[in-house]
Amino acid sequence: MMEDIAGQTVEVVIVGSGPAGLTAALYASRADLDPLVFEGVEPGGQLMQTTDVENYPGYPEGVMGPKMMQEFREQAQRFGADCRYGTVTNIEFDERPYKLTVDEETDLWAKSIIVSTGASAKWLDLESEQRLRGQGVSACATCDGAFFRDQHVIVVGGGDTAMEEATFLTKFASKVTILHRRQELRASKTMQQRAINDDKIEFMWDTELEEVLGEEEVDGVKVINNETQEITELDDVSGVFIAIGHKPNTDLFKGVLEMDDVGYLITKGDSTETDLEGVFASGDAMDPVYRQAVTAAGTGCRAALDAERFLAEQAVRETVAAE
Ligand code: NAP
Repeated sequence: MMEDIAGQTVEVVIVGSGPAGLTAALYASRADLDPLVFEGVEPGGQLMQTTDVENYPGYPEGVMGPKMMQEFREQAQRFGADCRYGTVTNIEFDERPYKLTVDEETDLWAKSIIVSTGASAKWLDLESEQRLRGQGVSACATCDGAFFRDQHVIVVGGGDTAMEEATFLTKFASKVTILHRRQELRASKTMQQRAINDDKIEFMWDTELEEVLGEEEVDGVKVINNETQEITELDDVSGVFIAIGHKPNTDLFKGVLEMDDVGYLITKGDSTETDLEGVFASGDAMDPVYRQAVTAAGTGCRAALDAERFLAEQAVRETVAAE
């Protein structure tokens, strides 16, 4: 499926296919740059794991995340964006055009690159949490919530994601306990209120997950109050949802592109330019602050415009050099 592009040199490769990547693809295709999009391990990005998106402008009734991403893709494809299932596994940044390897086997070259690799859910990194991932421990209520019908589940975290996951889980679970390590929630007031008003949701404050109990599946949890150090076992819990934020998917660029301590790519001034010529960053991979679908789409647009300008300047330079 990649034979036709192997060995080719293209104007722009877009790495990732969330709102940032697909908006970049829309703008780049309308600029006749024939963008090639590698959709990555999670085509459509994080919104594929969301149900109702109620805060994307233009959808007064809300829209399902996966439907919205399908529409993003179709809109970009309408203007010629070439969206491929495939993950960029290596990029050689020593000279431009940059050499990319897709799925560890197909090589091609890109005159410019738009990085829109997004972010992924963070884990607590407890041994028991990792061992029981997929066996009752999850970071996606939308994906796994239905397995916990009439059961008691916990959600770890105090941000919007935790509130959203907990509220969603009440559709199935008999009880949802939110564990938060402080007394104050980080979530927006609306989302907090929705969770607080829900009879099925309880909060445990100043509380952290110490251990997930069970060998083959979740049989309970051990939690600790970080003020009193008191340990409590909740032995009727059968599902654990970790909702403690996200980290940018930028490992591929470590040691090459400038990034902050967490891994967010750093861009120059008010542009999407990275410290490498012809490489632009967009979406959650470079945005530690807003991290919304609509802001990601905005940076995707900016990255495509920056890439277009860069390529035009390069073309002029090459023409002058050839004369
Ligand atoms: P977040 O705002 O960073 O919140 C993460 C939460 O997890 C915080 O309450 C934090 O506690 C807690 N936490 C972090 N590390 C922890 C650890 N090791 N152990 C225990 N608790 C830990 O992340 P988010 O909720 O994923 O939200 C990210 C962004 O997406 C936000 O801008 C949010 O508004 C947005 N978002 C919006 C919606 C929506 O509007 N529909 C839905 C989801 C997310 P502390 O508070 O103590 O730091």
